[in-house]
Amino acid sequence: MHEDIEKILITEDEIKAKVSELGQKITRDYKGKNLMLLCILKGAMMFLADLSRAIELPLSMDFMAVSSYGLSTTSSGVVRIIKDLDYSIEGKDILIVEDVIDSGLTLSYLRKVLLDRKPASLGICSLLDKPKKRRVEVPVDYTGFVIDDLFVVGYGLDFAEKYRNLPYIGILKPEVYKF
Ligand code: 5GP
Ligand code: MG
Ligand code: MG
Repeated sequence: MHEDIEKILITEDEIKAKVSELGQKITRDYKGKNLMLLCILKGAMMFLADLSRAIELPLSMDFMAVSSYGLSTTSSGVVRIIKDLDYSIEGKDILIVEDVIDSGLTLSYLRKVLLDRKPASLGICSLLDKPKKRRVEVPVDYTGFVIDDLFVVGYGLDFAEKYRNLPYIGILKPEVYKF
C-alpha cells in the first residue's frame, strides 16, 4: 500500500469484478446501437480503459475535459469546457463515462450541453456515486459503487494530480492534506 494512504475502500479485485459486470450489462443494453463512450478527463481514464475492454461490441470513444467555474467552495454548476469532443455526437448513442458523481452539478450541466447536440440517446455510467452531497438530480444508468461522503483517490482519481495510478481506491492520511 502507498505510504500516503490511510485505508483502501475498494480493492483492485473488487474494481475488476465490478467493471466486468458493468461491461456485460452495457454489452446487452447497447447491442445493435451506435455506441460512443464519452470519457470525462482526467479522472475517468482508467475506468474507460478497463470498461471499454469489458464491452464486447463495436464502439467509438471520445474525450472531454471540464472544470468548474469560480471558487471551489461555491460550485456554481457552470462548467467550463477545457477540451471539447473531436467528433459530432448527432445520432449516436452516447454513454458518458465518469469517475464520481458528488453534487451532480458537473454532469447535470454537461447533459444539457450534450442534449443540445442531438445524440440518439445519452446515458451515464459512473464508477462511484456519493449521494449524500447531491444538489441536483442526475439520471445515472450504471453505477459501480455507492460510497460515503469521503474524498477518495486512486484508479484515476487524484489529489493535486497525484495518486491516479494506484490500482485501488482509498482515502488519504490526514497529514497529506496539510502543506
Ligand atoms: P460534482 O459536480 O458531481 O460535485 O463533481 C464531480 C467531480 O468532482 C468529479 O468528477 C471529480 O472530478 C471531483 N470529485 C468529487 N468527489 C471526489 C473525490 O472523492 N475524489 C476526487 N479525487 N475527486 C472528486
Ligand atoms: Mg470526473
Ligand atoms: Mg481532480
